[in-house]
Amino acid sequence: MESYLAELNDAQRAPVLQKDGAMIVIAGAGSGKTRVLTYRIAYLMSLGVDAFNILSLTFTNKAAREMKKRIAQIVGNSEAKNLWMGTFHSIFAKMLRMEADKLGYPSNFTIYDTQDSQRLISTIIKEMGLDKDVYKYKQVYSRISSYKNSLITVKAYFQNAELMEADAMSKKPRLGEIYKNYVDRCFKAGAMDFDDLLLKTNELLNRFPEVLQKYQNRFRYILVDEYQDTNHSQYLIVKALSDKFQNICVVGDDAQSIYAFRGANINNILNFQKDYDNVQMYRLEQNYRSTKNIVNAANSIIDKNKTKLEKVVWTANDDGPKIIVNRLLTDGDEGRYVASSIFENRMQQQLSNGDFAILYRTNAQSRAMEDALRKRDIPYRIYGGLSFYQRKEIKDVLYYLRLLINQNDEEALKRVINYPARGIGQTTIDKLTITANQYGKSIFEVIEHLDHLDLKINSGTRAKLTNFVNMIKSFTILSENADAFTVADTVAKKTGLIQELKKDSTPEGVARIENIEELMNGIRDFVEGQKELADTTGSLAEFLEDVALATDSDKDTGDEDRVALMTIHLAKGLEFPYVYIVGMEEDLFPSGMSMNTRSELEEERRLFYVALTRAEKQAYLTYTQSRYRWGKLVDAEPSRFIEEIDTQYMDYMIPQDDYKYKPLIDADIFGEVDKSKYRQTKPSRGTPPPAHKPSEEQLRKLRKLRPASGASETASIKDTVALMVGNKVEHIRFGKGEVIQIEGVGQDKKAEINFENGGLKKLLLRFAKLKVL
Ligand code: ATP
Ligand code: MG
Repeated sequence: MESYLAELNDAQRAPVLQKDGAMIVIAGAGSGKTRVLTYRIAYLMSLGVDAFNILSLTFTNKAAREMKKRIAQIVGNSEAKNLWMGTFHSIFAKMLRMEADKLGYPSNFTIYDTQDSQRLISTIIKEMGLDKDVYKYKQVYSRISSYKNSLITVKAYFQNAELMEADAMSKKPRLGEIYKNYVDRCFKAGAMDFDDLLLKTNELLNRFPEVLQKYQNRFRYILVDEYQDTNHSQYLIVKALSDKFQNICVVGDDAQSIYAFRGANINNILNFQKDYDNVQMYRLEQNYRSTKNIVNAANSIIDKNKTKLEKVVWTANDDGPKIIVNRLLTDGDEGRYVASSIFENRMQQQLSNGDFAILYRTNAQSRAMEDALRKRDIPYRIYGGLSFYQRKEIKDVLYYLRLLINQNDEEALKRVINYPARGIGQTTIDKLTITANQYGKSIFEVIEHLDHLDLKINSGTRAKLTNFVNMIKSFTILSENADAFTVADTVAKKTGLIQELKKDSTPEGVARIENIEELMNGIRDFVEGQKELADTTGSLAEFLEDVALATDSDKDTGDEDRVALMTIHLAKGLEFPYVYIVGMEEDLFPSGMSMNTRSELEEERRLFYVALTRAEKQAYLTYTQSRYRWGKLVDAEPSRFIEEIDTQYMDYMIPQDDYKYKPLIDADIFGEVDKSKYRQTKPSRGTPPPAHKPSEEQLRKLRKLRPASGASETASIKDTVALMVGNKVEHIRFGKGEVIQIEGVGQDKKAEINFENGGLKKLLLRFAKLKVL
């Protein structure tokens, strides 16, 4: 046996050794699903499967890099380099570049980020003379995005009377036109947005059978991690590519499906057996990540969900300490408690900052944590939120770089044409835009042909415009031979960006220059990494693609020792020795927006399961008595999820009533935690958790896979979002009533209801607590 195969248990080895066919591994958190994928790839390669014939789709690019590294250790770097591994977006962006001409796109198409897309939509709304309070650009953007993810193209939209009517009913009859204009403008700019990367891949595979065949033949072996969170568009791509050889291995955990709100479809995992012939189903049961207390506590949580596949998760690891629950007065206290606890644990257990993670439900909660960590001089890194690449000074450099790669990139051009200021005013830009729209050309092309156009622009401005275009062209020429670092460095200096920033000597101004330096270092690392790991030149185009598709946890280079702060959604797939889950309060977690239906509440519970199962050694849960929310101090109630955990796995550390929380002083930090300050309000009780593998009979009982109840369950739940005109409903305050009218979709869906007690009321469904009768 190959020696690395000994690093797997029998259950893990089985799907690794099955070379061909369709297989699904369904297993709980920390049971080695990702490890199975990694070793399976290494094993396939050792059997002689060419790396070029393997496609592996992961949830983050970071996960892909880590898997590739491990595979390289087993099979050697020169082979591993050729593997196609990454997120759906990054892999299919690469494929689209190779086939772009078929869809009428340039291969150097730009990828618009959310900001670019929203800005363009806002421009279009303005140009069409529409009321921006009715057509809110962010709402319009998310509507267009959901159409794209359901593969509703502009053409399909205009053929769908129901959709058009729904938009008209929600007072947005011209949404279809905005959609059309947006798609046209992106096309003209040679740009795709995030959703296009999946939509256009589907289009490519559907419209061009020869292309489909080419990639079916190429990707003979396909592997997908976190399959439970694939959306419809992604599902169709995987299905199409794997249809010929059916060598497909997907791994997932229905209990960790947490992206339904963004269109992920749990039925993809439940229906897998119907989609392929002779599907082998594998289950892994042993958790290697966490202590018994954590595994058992997590099991007791997920047990409360009705819609789930029954699974066994056990561990041979130590019991470990119990989960600590602590109540604090305010979020400031919560931050101080967490910071002190990290400080103590780090000292006492000789740990690094990187061993700790703080997880929260919403990004806004990070501020209190940051303040407290800063006061303690504990280095931290926030994932998500406003990411490094979203900062203005960084985006300015990136927009220049984008423009020199694709001169039709309108959003980029508008951002840099007069920054740093070079005397090109808004009126001039407006004139150029109108002309560009008239001729169906880009603004860049209009400037190039300025001499032949009858535009009222004076000669001084004309000269400035020509200089600008010539400068960009000179960068383009440079980029054809130089690597990304050389180009970026030249751009930062020659455009005057750095000089502009140097004018500002405030600490913020200095920080901006430092950020640009960090960007340059990042580009240099990227160039070296590309040469080393992927065997390419590290061109600017490659770098921009990497940035555009960086997932939020990708920026962890691992070379800095910091506490990780992130939302639970971002923590999926990751693991940390110590995990603090903060803000365990009703309305916050579970979120107040997600408690209307059983399915929403169950998704929140799965999110809690994900959070808890990130911890290897110890988990902490904290909640406050009052918290500032929307600018007001409100009383907080402990989350129902705390109550749902079996008490035998918990230690409740609740300050005595007369105990006023005070920031811990150094004496407290170096000594033991003074437990006399606390009383255990809920002493542990009950029998201890099973300390060993369950008996065969217990396992047999547990293993009886309940029929996938997902689909019928969801349908049977009276989901207010499925509400129809004519339905009879009941409201806590207004009593019984009948639905008269429905408008809007998704988050914005409203119903007009005639109540017995309250008369006619219009209610936003995601907030209205309605029972359907
Ligand atoms: P998640 O559901 O959170 O994505 P997972 O099922 O993908 O988890 P992995 O991340 O693959 O689980 O594994 C969890 C941890 O257990 C990792 O640190 C992994 O290296 C370790 N591990 C997995 N299998 C084994 C094994 N057979 N022996 C030792 N360690 C293992
Ligand atoms: Mg995993």
